[in-house]
Amino acid sequence: MHPTVRILSIGDELVLGRVTDTNASFLCRLATDHGFRVLGAQQVGDGEAGITAALLAAAQDAELVLISGGLGPTDDDRTRHALAAALGVPLAEHAPSWTAIEARYRRLAPTRVIPPNNRRQALLPRGARPLANDRGTAPGMVATLRPQNTPRKRTLVAVFPGVPHEMKAMAERFSATLPRRFPGLTVPHISEVWFAGIGESAAQERLGDLLSESAPQVGITVSELGHLTLRVVGEPREVAARTRALRACLKGLLLPAAGLAPSLVAALSKRRATITAAESCTGGHVAALLTAVPGASTVLRESLVAYHPSVKHARLDVPLRVMSKDGIVSEACARAMAVGAQARSGATFAIATTGVAGPTGGSVENPVGTVWLAVATAAGSATRKVFIQGIRERIQARAATSALQLAWDALHGLVTLD
Ligand code: ATP
Ligand code: MG
Repeated sequence: MHPTVRILSIGDELVLGRVTDTNASFLCRLATDHGFRVLGAQQVGDGEAGITAALLAAAQDAELVLISGGLGPTDDDRTRHALAAALGVPLAEHAPSWTAIEARYRRLAPTRVIPPNNRRQALLPRGARPLANDRGTAPGMVATLRPQNTPRKRTLVAVFPGVPHEMKAMAERFSATLPRRFPGLTVPHISEVWFAGIGESAAQERLGDLLSESAPQVGITVSELGHLTLRVVGEPREVAARTRALRACLKGLLLPAAGLAPSLVAALSKRRATITAAESCTGGHVAALLTAVPGASTVLRESLVAYHPSVKHARLDVPLRVMSKDGIVSEACARAMAVGAQARSGATFAIATTGVAGPTGGSVENPVGTVWLAVATAAGSATRKVFIQGIRERIQARAATSALQLAWDALHGLVTLD
């Protein structure tokens, strides 16, 4: 059984497009993983009437409504009022919540007087129960709504703070109570297969009928981090069988983790190999991707941002002749950077990037988005040219993941080093 849920994110900053609604994606995933079917997620401004209307509308077809935001102490935080209005009950101070707020205040700011507005955070609609907040001031709340025109139906409503790290802790605790609140809840079986090295359309062609809309449902997602994910959802046996078939079909392209960087760190660490990078156009993106992975220190030596030609020469031994004859954005320069970085660091693998990130600096031979990559080991080196469309930010990010892909390919003997 998969009961339905709707998610409401409250805040003017969200509807104005000033802050990305990350709470919704967190709650969508949490609800899905607990066996709910998400009907939709929506941003709603701070106005009380709008929140009440959105809540009542959501309760028409959803058995659970999860709300984040609008619980603060200021006048524009109206979620608790909106919930009271939807329930048709008054707000009343919840004494234990006020005691908890006072205690927290005294602990964090012993000499300050509690602003009177804070008392508002202890208000609960009559009949609602508080959800403790161990990371902030405002408690959350949970209540049962009986929407009109659907007399026998009940909708459970849970409200969390807007601050993401407070919301997450509270929502996770609340989610542990869901199996008790929704007897018969079954958790979906989801498996993921990660791969890289081919594009989405090539993958689609290769996978054919293995990509199905149901029984099991198989979806494909392209990540900005340079890999593709297949998500298999369905009954346990069909998920297991399809996952095996997908893995067999993608042999040679499979990644052990969700992304090239974590996969590369895992694979290098397994082989007790090390890596170093020499970055020009990526300006540290390669280092950022690798160091974002816990445990990167076991494999990453350093990443030098060798931006100026003099640095490429002085720190990586790129011959001045190569740069003046072939140019900075050239196969020869990328190769010399990787060879120099490998020789100087003694790392098992060195990767290098040099390209035109734009928006200026492009030429007929090297238009904006042209990037030369190289990988070197003690045994030899290989290069690859990629062309990345888009703005500077994307070109830098994709060039970095392409460099990781080249390292991955070298590690697995998929490119020839000479
Ligand atoms: P609370 O309910 O915890 O009092 P609030 O909505 O009253 O939250 P705000 O000051 O509006 O408090 O938001 C707190 C912070 O949380 C802000 O930085 C805000 O941008 C962020 N935030 C609120 N909602 C979301 C969301 N849905 N996704 C991401 N960030 C959010
Ligand atoms: Mg807010």
